[in-house]
Order: sequence, then structure tokens, then C-alpha cells
Amino acid sequence: MNPQFSLAGSSRFVLAGARVLASHLPPHTAPEDREGLVLADVLVNDGRIAEVLAAGVSQFDGAPRASLAGRIVLPLFLDAHTHLDKAHIWPRAPNPSGDFEGAMRAVAQDRAVRWSAKDVARRMEFCLRTAYAHGTAAIRTHIDSIGAQTRISWPVVAEVRDRWRGRVDLQAAPLFLIEFALDGAHMAEIEAMLDVYGSGILGAVTTMIPRLKEGLDVLFSLAERKGWDLDFHVDESADPAARSLRAIAEAAIERGFPGRILVGHCCSLSLQGEDEQQRTIEAVAKAGVSVVSLPMCNMFLQDRRHGRTPRWRGVTAVHELKEAGVNVMIASDNVRDPFYAYGDLDMLEVWREGVRILHLDYPFADWASVVREAPAAAMGLDVSGIRPGADADLILTGARNFTELFSRPHEDRTVLRGGAPLEPPPDYAEIDAPEGLA
Ligand SMILES: [Zn+2]
Repeated sequence: MNPQFSLAGSSRFVLAGARVLASHLPPHTAPEDREGLVLADVLVNDGRIAEVLAAGVSQFDGAPRASLAGRIVLPLFLDAHTHLDKAHIWPRAPNPSGDFEGAMRAVAQDRAVRWSAKDVARRMEFCLRTAYAHGTAAIRTHIDSIGAQTRISWPVVAEVRDRWRGRVDLQAAPLFLIEFALDGAHMAEIEAMLDVYGSGILGAVTTMIPRLKEGLDVLFSLAERKGWDLDFHVDESADPAARSLRAIAEAAIERGFPGRILVGHCCSLSLQGEDEQQRTIEAVAKAGVSVVSLPMCNMFLQDRRHGRTPRWRGVTAVHELKEAGVNVMIASDNVRDPFYAYGDLDMLEVWREGVRILHLDYPFADWASVVREAPAAAMGLDVSGIRPGADADLILTGARNFTELFSRPHEDRTVLRGGAPLEPPPDYAEIDAPEGLA
């Protein structure tokens, strides 16, 4: 536990000398330093933020004080792209080649044999406990929705979502290759499952199949008919000829699609010629499509060839997209599965790695939205800042500036929910046998 916070059990206390991003506070709370941070005192009362003032201007009637001495306090994170149904299977389904094809094979084999409702539920539960402990308030997961798995996984999703309501807001989107959109029986199954258990989000993996436009038409039409949003896995490859992103943006413009669209990966965009890239980015901006980059997973999977050192980080053109006005964000993606051997649904880790891999720095404050406000917009969720009336849901770190924040993992952070500190993440031993993960 963070040594600065020792007021567990008090219902009224002051977080004194908290360093907070100005954009997370009510306007003009206090002068900003050169990183966009301000020093504030935050009064917590009965689980809510009661008052936020410049540091030192009030004694708050002698309320007990936790002295943070200028350490950074963050609001909670939102994680817009994950795969909770695959998470933590690495010990029983490794991917020794470390590449995309190896991952597809390993997951398909494990899914066919092991993904019972109980297995999926236990791993998802472990994921939510982990993300919650790290300070995440909302997660969108993709759910492998193919063959018999569709009817196994979706009831589990709904059950987990209900159990976690109020702690972690869980959204789910179905995942299947775009060619399956052309299979009427498959789509009827998807529609039936989403009607009962879904989150109002339809999705697929898009690649350059000959009937791409037709497949997109099916998905857009169904989403329009139901009032659903769309979420695609897009061009996750090093092939510059992978241009399904443009097809999605053009379909959205042409149809005047009324819902939200989030696209993930878009790796190939960053390898295309500047003209081509620019035209696609303009279409994405015009269509109002949001883009999520998955820096840890993409760097792991892309440009991997045995015996050859990788030259490319695998990530999409995040800076160019942001410059064009596109809502951009970063997220966890896979965790300890054949697509990514590491990770822990820790958005502070994702942010730290994102800063390094994608240069989301100088100024840091400009990019802080990629782990909160940008995913909130894409997920259709409201987030308020650290302001009076909001729940006292805060992450207390040991860092006093951004270089300290991004230099250590801050495993000792204190996450407050409703003003009370949370337990640390669960022990790995809790997902051992009988799932064959020991
Ligand atoms: Zn993904």
C-alpha cells in the first residue's frame, strides 16, 4: 500500500497536496506547472468528493489529512479493447512462434477443447478483479463468437457483467472473421445472442476479402436496424495493401451511420504511402470513427520473424490520426494468451508502454486522454473529473511528475473506490487447476 495513505476507515478526510492534471479538475483550481499539473487539496466525505481547492487554502474544519506531498492522483482508467475470454491461457496454450498465425492456431485448439462456460467465467472473473484492483472503471472485451462457442460464452458475459455492475462497467462485442458475416445462419445466431446477452455492440475482424463491402453491408445494416454500435479489428498486419479501414470509413460516410464506430489495431496504415495514408485518415476523421491502438500486443506480434531482429513497432499512425481530429486511445488487448504472452489489464502499464512505444509525451498532458476521456467517448460512457459530487474513485501514485510516473510500475499505488482503498490484484494461483493452467 502507498505509505502516504493511511486513513482507511475514515469517512471524511483530505487528500492534501495532491498533484492532479488541470484537465481533471474544475477550471482555474490552481496555477499549472509546466507539465499541466496543479497542486490541490481534495476533501472526501462519505465516499464522494466534497470539495477541491488549491493546496493549502483551507483547513476543511480540521478534517484528518493524508499528506500526499505533491504526489500524482489520477481518476480511474477505461480500457476500450480487451479479450477477457482468451486471457491467461498461455500456460496451457503457448505460442512459441510468437506470431499472428501461431496465435490463431493455438487459440482455436484451446477454445475447441477447454472453453467451457466455467472455464471462461473463471478467467473473466480473474481479469475483472485484476483490472479493478489496478484502477480500471470500464472495460470493453471482444468475445470469440464462432460455432458452438457463441452459445457458451455470451451467457457468461452477461452474468459477469451483472455481477460487476457498479464496480467495472463491462461491454462486449462479438469477434469473428468478416467472411462469416456472409453466412446467414451464423449471423442469425449472433443476432439472437446479442439480443439477449449483448451490449448493443456488433463487430468483426476485417481483412481484404473479395466480398469485404458485402460483409460490411450486412454488419452495418444489422447495427442500423438494432441501434447498435460497431467495433472492428482492422488490418492487423504488416501488409500495406490491407486497407479495410478505408472501406469501413467510406461505408459509414455513405450510409450516414448513426452509431459509434471503434476500430482497433489498423497496423498497416502506418506502412502505407503518405498520400494513401492521408486519404484514409481524412475518411476516418470525416466518418467520426474512433481508433484504438494496442501498443504492447502489436509490438509483440508484428514484425516477428525467427532469427531476425524486429525493425517496426507494429503500431498505427496515432499522431497523424490525432492531428486530423480523430478520437484516438490505447488499450490492453490480450493478456497472457497466444496473442500476447504478458500484460495484466493494468492501464497504468499500458499508458507507460504507450508513452514509450508511441511517443505519447512532450507534452504528456496532451496525451493523457488516451486512457480515459477518449475511450469514454468511444464507449458511450460519461466520465466526470475530480470534482465535487463525483465518487471518490481515485488512484494515488508515488510519482510527483510524469517522468517518475512512467519510470516505475507503481505496484504500490492505492486505488480508492468510494473513498475506500482496494485490495491488491489476485494471486495467479487462483486460476490454476482445474483449468489446466498450473
Ligand atoms: Zn484485439
